[in-house]
Amino acid sequence: MEDFKGRVALITGGARGQGRSHAVALAERGADIVLGDRCEDSPAVNYPLATAADLDETAELVRATGRRCITAEADTADRAAMDALVAEAESEFGRIDVAVANAGVSVAAPVQSLTQEQWSEAIGSNLTGVFNTVGAVAPGMIRRGYGRIVTISSMLGRAGNTNMAAYAASKWGVIGLTKSAALDLAPHGITVNAIAPGNISTPMIHNDALYRMMRPDLDAPAAEDVEPVFRSLHAQPVAWLDATEITRVVLFLAAEGSAHISGIVLPVDAGNAARGL
Ligand code: NAD
Repeated sequence: MEDFKGRVALITGGARGQGRSHAVALAERGADIVLGDRCEDSPAVNYPLATAADLDETAELVRATGRRCITAEADTADRAAMDALVAEAESEFGRIDVAVANAGVSVAAPVQSLTQEQWSEAIGSNLTGVFNTVGAVAPGMIRRGYGRIVTISSMLGRAGNTNMAAYAASKWGVIGLTKSAALDLAPHGITVNAIAPGNISTPMIHNDALYRMMRPDLDAPAAEDVEPVFRSLHAQPVAWLDATEITRVVLFLAAEGSAHISGIVLPVDAGNAARGL
């Protein structure tokens, strides 16, 4: 359980959801944790994002494991904020060994009515945000000759879907970025891999706006009303997976022993990967 002892891990979007799960699991295995999250809603996103209280709660869960934790209300789309967070972490903890570029938003609208603001939000948070995270951590990892970078794409990084032009474009982009970064950083002891989750049970999918989009025939759809719709997106008969299923793969890819796995996209999507790329 101490396989990350002495390591330092940065997780973006770490205030809640999958990011929180990754942070606590890495801390339980010995890593000190650096958490970034914007902690602010966006006018282009029609469900609430995390709050400062959520970020504090994740930090408390990390500290309860006995590990140290730095937090910052940093927007991944803001390169200066990401550089500042990495500089603070390297000055406080001396290093960042693992970076999980997890922060992201879901923006849903048919392409013919998708606004410039929605497009920019999806590309800014989901694609430029991953670039900024990789760009901010890479120089220190190169100096130390060691790094494990895990990016979070989506099953929509390998397919399209209705209402998902901006989100899918951003998540396809993450895969191109990940593979290219893996090649750039290969000489430096740094691996870069992507995970492509299916439906994961977090506030990103469990919110009124998405429920209404999935069941426009109902006034106030509940989880049981959207469950069959989510299930149809997977091959196995399960509507959504727990965040810990993604965490298992983060731990695998972030491990020291995964030194020679780089540039891959690992789907965790209840068999949906069998249908396509
Ligand atoms: P979530 O909404 O619970 O968590 C996302 C976190 O990212 C929130 O805390 C939010 O405040 C933060 N965030 C958003 N934009 C940010 C920005 N620009 N800068 C910093 N923080 C920002 O959702 P989640 O399911 O935990 O999402 C984690 C990742 O998984 C995202 O990249 C998402 O696109 C991806 N993903 C989710 C699903 C799913 O079904 N939940 C499926 C595939 C991929």
